[in-house]
Amino acid sequence: MEKKHRLFIAGDWTSPRLGKVRKIFDPARGEVISEVAEGEATDIDTAVAAARTAFESGPWAVMTGSDRGRILWRIGDLIDKHREELSLLDALNQGSPYQIIHDYYVDAAAEQFRYYAGWATKLNGHTVPLSANGDWHAYTLRQPIGVVGQIIPWNVPLLMAAWKVAPALAAGCTVVLKPAEHTPLTAIRLAELAQEAGLPPGVLNVVTGDGSAGEALVDHPGVDKIAFTGSTAVGKRIVQLAAGNLKKLSLELGGKSPAIVLPDADIEHTVNGLLAATYLNSGQACTNPSIINIHSSIYDEVVHSLARRAADMRIGHGLDPSTDIGPLISERQLNRVIGYIDRAVSDGGKVLVGGKRYGATGYFVEPTILEGVPSSCPAYLEEIFGPVTCVQRFDDAADLMAISALANDGPYGLSASVWTKDVSTAHKLAAKIRAGIVWINAHHQVDAALPFGGFKQSGWGREMGFEAIQLYTEVKSVAARL
Ligand code: NAD
Repeated sequence: MEKKHRLFIAGDWTSPRLGKVRKIFDPARGEVISEVAEGEATDIDTAVAAARTAFESGPWAVMTGSDRGRILWRIGDLIDKHREELSLLDALNQGSPYQIIHDYYVDAAAEQFRYYAGWATKLNGHTVPLSANGDWHAYTLRQPIGVVGQIIPWNVPLLMAAWKVAPALAAGCTVVLKPAEHTPLTAIRLAELAQEAGLPPGVLNVVTGDGSAGEALVDHPGVDKIAFTGSTAVGKRIVQLAAGNLKKLSLELGGKSPAIVLPDADIEHTVNGLLAATYLNSGQACTNPSIINIHSSIYDEVVHSLARRAADMRIGHGLDPSTDIGPLISERQLNRVIGYIDRAVSDGGKVLVGGKRYGATGYFVEPTILEGVPSSCPAYLEEIFGPVTCVQRFDDAADLMAISALANDGPYGLSASVWTKDVSTAHKLAAKIRAGIVWINAHHQVDAALPFGGFKQSGWGREMGFEAIQLYTEVKSVAARL
């Protein structure tokens, strides 16, 4: 944290062309903890050129899948080795409780590299029997897509970087990564670890900076593909900017995830699961349950229990071991979230618990549950990205069309959860809900092997699993007349 961080380009730490720096904050105290270079369009040019050179010549261009896999595995091991340090950095810079970062996010980041290490040797094509006259030998090759620009948000900094970088490297691409302006520290450290693991110069470049650096990357004619995680609004802007050279796009965007609690749900298990999921990362998770639909027969019991447990959550600094819920990322985000709550109340909604800023320093909001929020209200319609959820009741547990219609309302389709002991109903609902992932008696489980992404305005494409390898490869057909 004490270093003045520069840009990681072509395997070297480089000062930004315009010499600008950005202060990096601890959102729990509102204090500066570090300084990083503020990269801009000219730095993006240099990084893209380095990535192009590394893609077309040098060791990476001719490396076997097995050797790429070994490097990826070593990156995973180095993440494990530096787990405490990486957890400290994200706890200080992003604000979530240290133990959650340590036990889940850093672990998942290491696992992401190990999972994709295995894919590096499995990028096969197929032989294809042709129906054309004559003798043919036809086959496909799966080849890396080229230079990839990757842009990530601030909510889970190291893991978001791992989701992006690991499959791209497994596929043989080269990368320019632009971390979120608020949370660049673990991406910078990841670049150091990747270098230590033996990744050749120029294969992974990290340019810290804000949305204008992101725009320069999306607009750049030397970039073959953009992989973006962030808000739907910025995603739409990226679609327009990427049209210049028709670069390929994958977009992981916002969500407004419903939960459906059926009358036979195990109430204790459901409340535990929904509470943890709703307030994970202080609600700054694209999948957090934002509208909890509960059957009227158990509504009072579930809501009462959720509210009591939410009120008991301990708010504090991510490095305090007693903390359950940390701050939001910035004052802007704090004001945005409070704005949604105030508007919900003025539109007729009721605050069952929370509803206010917590403390005078840092950007904390109390865990909040809203009831009776009209479906026309922004808190009901839009992604809040804070520790806020809306609860509502439904009556007919047998009408699966009506229940899935509740879940399918709105422009997003990232995730949903169904809570019930009835296996048939759970799977029937899972089939009807228009979301990229549906959890049954759980909410938030992601895995390197399980595809993740959005229906509707929650995005294009799927990350994780073989689907992410497809995002970073092109299929070439070869037909030989014999
Ligand atoms: P954001 O869209 O404001 O920023 C995301 C990234 O895009 C940042 O690095 C930012 O600098 C960059 N950026 C901003 N403007 C840009 C532009 N015009 N061109 C190119 N890049 C630009 O999002 P955020 O506030 O950092 O993150 C919160 C959002 O991310 C939420 O909407 C959340 O749902 C979404 N998210 C989605 C997933 C998912 O997998 N679907 C995961 C995490 C977060």
